Amino acid sequence: MICQSSLALQNRMHKMSHISDEIKRITSGLPQGVRLVAISKYHPVGAIEEAYAAGQRVFGESHVQEIQEKVQVLPKDIEWHFIGHLQTNKVKYIAPYISLIHAVDSLKLLQEINKQGAKTGRVIPILLQLHIAQEETKFGFTLEECKQLIEKTNWKTYPNIQISGLMCMATNTEDMNQVRQEFNRVYNFFLELKQTVKDILPAFKELSMGMSNDYTIALEEGSTLIRVGSKIFGERDYSKH
Ligand SMILES: *Cc1c(COP(=O)(O)O)cnc(C)c1O
Repeated sequence: MICQSSLALQNRMHKMSHISDEIKRITSGLPQGVRLVAISKYHPVGAIEEAYAAGQRVFGESHVQEIQEKVQVLPKDIEWHFIGHLQTNKVKYIAPYISLIHAVDSLKLLQEINKQGAKTGRVIPILLQLHIAQEETKFGFTLEECKQLIEKTNWKTYPNIQISGLMCMATNTEDMNQVRQEFNRVYNFFLELKQTVKDILPAFKELSMGMSNDYTIALEEGSTLIRVGSKIFGERDYSKH
């Protein structure tokens, strides 16, 4: 007879090898120069440690309090990305260490990140979030707004941010042709913009797109950063938050 605790241990061992296997499977299939951001939101520190042990160093979180707690207890060579909607009054908490803020969706937020970057003596890399999905609720700039912002802003007055590229989320649909079309549209826009800004924003070269359900399509359509959570860590446990 198997006792309860050894069953729990077996489950845990199973989950462990799953995390490690998925990290290895996904990263071994990445084109050169493309990186995996392991999205660990709502998952415990232990799950991140398992991914870390498998070699993963880039993790993404979407809640300020949660990332703050994890940063304190996890290894210092982790590169933390913030992927969620960020409120201006919370920028100050993550400014000292964040490696990339993916979802910048307003000029006000850009200004605040620049201000907090100056306070901590850092240049903070950011991505501008595009709104391409059909859902009304998603944040971000339209392509036209983004183009205007990039071309009309005097970036010399923002010395403490680095515009590293663009981020988007496709429509949440089963229709993978639609998803592909959306990614393709963003990729073409990204290429065009990258060419236009190459002298003023030399760091503009990242395109963050693709999640568990659509990252293989995103890779085919030119993504440079995929944000994969549930495929690696399993379903999120929202009950603990
Ligand atoms: C949660 C989240 C992800 C990861 O989603 P999965 O479907 O679990 O891979 C990616 N990007 C953003 C912006 C998210 O909020």
